[in-house]
Amino acid sequence: MHHFEYRDKRLYCEDVPVTSVVEAVGTPCYLYSAATLTRHFQAFSEAFEGMERLVCYSAKANTNLAVLRLFCQMGGGLDIVSGGELFRGLKAGFPPGRIVYSGVGKRADEIDFALEKGILMFNVESIEELKLLNERAKTLGKTAPVALRVNPDVDPKTHPYISTGLTKNKFGIDTEAAVEGYRLARSLSNVQIQGIDCHIGSQITESTPFKDALKNLVGLVDRLNQMGFSFQYIDVGGGLGITYGDESPPLPAEYARAIVEALKGTSLKLILEPGRVLVGNAGILVTRVLYRKRTKAKEFVVVDAAMNDLIRPALYRAYHGIQPVVRASRETLRADVVGPICESGDFLAEDRKMADVQQGELLAVMSAGAYGFVMASNYCSRPRAAEVMVSGDRFHVVRPRETYEALIQGESIPPFLG
Ligand SMILES: *Cc1c(COP(=O)(O)O)cnc(C)c1O
Repeated sequence: MHHFEYRDKRLYCEDVPVTSVVEAVGTPCYLYSAATLTRHFQAFSEAFEGMERLVCYSAKANTNLAVLRLFCQMGGGLDIVSGGELFRGLKAGFPPGRIVYSGVGKRADEIDFALEKGILMFNVESIEELKLLNERAKTLGKTAPVALRVNPDVDPKTHPYISTGLTKNKFGIDTEAAVEGYRLARSLSNVQIQGIDCHIGSQITESTPFKDALKNLVGLVDRLNQMGFSFQYIDVGGGLGITYGDESPPLPAEYARAIVEALKGTSLKLILEPGRVLVGNAGILVTRVLYRKRTKAKEFVVVDAAMNDLIRPALYRAYHGIQPVVRASRETLRADVVGPICESGDFLAEDRKMADVQQGELLAVMSAGAYGFVMASNYCSRPRAAEVMVSGDRFHVVRPRETYEALIQGESIPPFLG
């Protein structure tokens, strides 16, 4: 469910015509619907009604301060993977006690930052990290609250690049090593065992991988309990998929049922780390058609958004729906939708049956709210797109389009080059 709908022939975001936003900020631009974000958070959280839970939005899916603030105001926590995300999370107003920190490569300075702020929990991904955490905490006169991220070795059946819960992946600690890890953690003076964690991948469209992972995790908790360990939290990660095209992922209620069922009989507090499912369908990328062209082999629609704005199609061959912002009554067309970048991988859609659009018209790339702007780059010295948030009949530019000056900010020519 989202709030991007046609009224008459025009695409609206809530009560704002997409064309009005484009008149104000130009293209390409990202457009987020506050009502959709709110609804997604509510639906997700309410699916766990009756469970003690903290929904820690996974910041990396979309870190715009406005998006973070919205989830913060709704009582959410935050799942971060870097010092930069901690910085943003604090700026957006999240209390440190609602922040969990995941990631295989936490640097000492990032660990120190999080220790100083007093976050809820570090999700530790290696024994060496655990040791460093203890050292840094000792140096700072703190105690580091930890969970070990366990790799449950289940196949999430998603794209290999976003699968994280197999032993061949770099993430987490496998079950046997985790037992040793908890033994070590217990012996360390400046860490405190708070919980256990897993996260098996992203864009998961069935319940079974979640069930299997949790079954393994709960089995491990039982074993560890028998060894005298006790846990306050179980962090089940994120990964619930969304509908981009023809997927039919579990609804939050079904996902929640699978999790609640697996946790029956334990008294653990639940931490969830949803990212994509909260923001994915709450955003679109709006782009203008620059040219139409036809080669001997193919038809192309050249637009002003590119892989630097939305890399998912190039990176994962991901599918995004593409719709006209103003519907015209024309034949359909089969074409590649491509950007201006000098790479053949620079496409937003391949061999797509779509509305016949003409030069100067606008297209909406749907479901672009997650892993969209956050993965944008300045490749080919393209200023990053504007980001806009809509609420009802109002909209606000939550990040203006970058300027040419911003492109060279911080760069300098060394004196020896004169
Ligand atoms: C990316 C990530 C998430 C969120 O994943 P989604 O698929 O966007 O829900 C949650 N937890 C961790 C540790 C992550 O790295």
